[in-house]
Amino acid sequence: MSVKPKVEPTKSAKKLRTLETLRGFRDILPDEQAAWDKIDDVARKLTQAYGFGRIRLPALEATSVFERSIGKDTDIVEKEMFTFVDQGGVKMTLRPEGTASVARAYIEHGMLNQPQPVKLWYLEPFFRHERPQAGRYRQFWQLGLEAMGSDDSVLDAQIILMAYNFCKDLGVETIVQINSLGTAAIRKSYTSDLAKYFKGHAKKLNETDLKRLQRNPLRLLDSKEAGMEELKAGAPQLIEYLDDETKQHFMKVLEYLDEAEVPYTLNPFLVRGLDYYTKTVFELVSTNPIGENGSQLALGGGGRYDGLIPLLGGREATGAVGAALGIERILLAMKTANAMPDSRRVADVFFCQLGEAARRKGLKIFEKLRQSDLNVAEAFAKGNLKAQLEIADKMQASIAIILGQKEVLDGTIIIRDMEAGAQEIVDVEKVVGIVAKRLQDNKKKQKE
Ligand code: AMP
Repeated sequence: MSVKPKVEPTKSAKKLRTLETLRGFRDILPDEQAAWDKIDDVARKLTQAYGFGRIRLPALEATSVFERSIGKDTDIVEKEMFTFVDQGGVKMTLRPEGTASVARAYIEHGMLNQPQPVKLWYLEPFFRHERPQAGRYRQFWQLGLEAMGSDDSVLDAQIILMAYNFCKDLGVETIVQINSLGTAAIRKSYTSDLAKYFKGHAKKLNETDLKRLQRNPLRLLDSKEAGMEELKAGAPQLIEYLDDETKQHFMKVLEYLDEAEVPYTLNPFLVRGLDYYTKTVFELVSTNPIGENGSQLALGGGGRYDGLIPLLGGREATGAVGAALGIERILLAMKTANAMPDSRRVADVFFCQLGEAARRKGLKIFEKLRQSDLNVAEAFAKGNLKAQLEIADKMQASIAIILGQKEVLDGTIIIRDMEAGAQEIVDVEKVVGIVAKRLQDNKKKQKE
């Protein structure tokens, strides 16, 4: 019989003494919902206009879906995935990003037989075991946009334009940083020259960068370590390795962006961490810094991944391009830009009840009002009329409906005009129709 090894709890596991959320995870409370609803609305309108269909992805995938696509020598696969073996012995991972899953779905559902490009979007939480800090969580949400089955540069531009306008529609100004990584073959020969260059300067590299040099030299261009700016400036530049076709593809993307008036800057050091990118890569950076100590965190990023679908077993030469936008970071940028929507609840009609009989009868009347599609609110837990009218006032209701003991007996109900204070007693059976008509009249008056 095998003996189970004793697992020592990690430092952070020990710290979690009481029942509270895990480090890097959080609740999204009612006060925050107005902003999240706005994110939903803007995402829906934008994706509908550009003909994207929604996909809802499973939270768990076979680990190989991510290992094969993102690449073994990347931060995500090396150290950030929540991976475990289930009761049946299957190795699985909580999705750290969406592109690999979408590419898997494209192949699995035979989407290559549909008219191309197939355009899909998702708005879901993802999971990475990162060190939590401002704008960095272990569960975070992304809006993803993926266009598969075409290598046309107009799609690169369209995805960037959509990402840019998603932020803009939410009140956040961004600048796009853009670069081209070339084809897989170009990247390979460039990476080999880059490694040679940095090997020549190995003495100046610290431990982290030496590791990068060994495992994934391209990532050295991402490095923010001391002294690297100077070294990077002397390094070979990817743009010089691009062949004519790739150069033209990139030029066209830039021309489309110029035409669409999307502000961008060329960043020769932008490589993005993952293995699957080819040609265009980009990131969106808020014009207001949102990170810790005023640092710049990207709100979103993406690029072209022409090799990914073939790599996962799909048809050769299936071009694709996509973007992912970090919702928590966009919310942070919305706060910084004072662009958060008002989260106060507003209602057109407020239902008040007075006394036990009214409360009982009121439950049903309130349901009738609600089912008639009126924007109604209530406070059944309150017994005092003054307190209820105060809430009605706060919610900016223009009409209050009041049901008391006497009205219950008479089969009537009171309609109160909140502005004028005038009250009228009507037949309870007719209240829905009368209130709907009043609201219409009020709206007409406001327009005049
Ligand atoms: P990536 O593809 O890793 O660059 O992720 C795209 C976007 O998702 C980033 O620009 C961030 O806005 C967001 N994002 C990535 N990782 C996290 C995280 N750990 N916490 C919050 N947002 C994240």
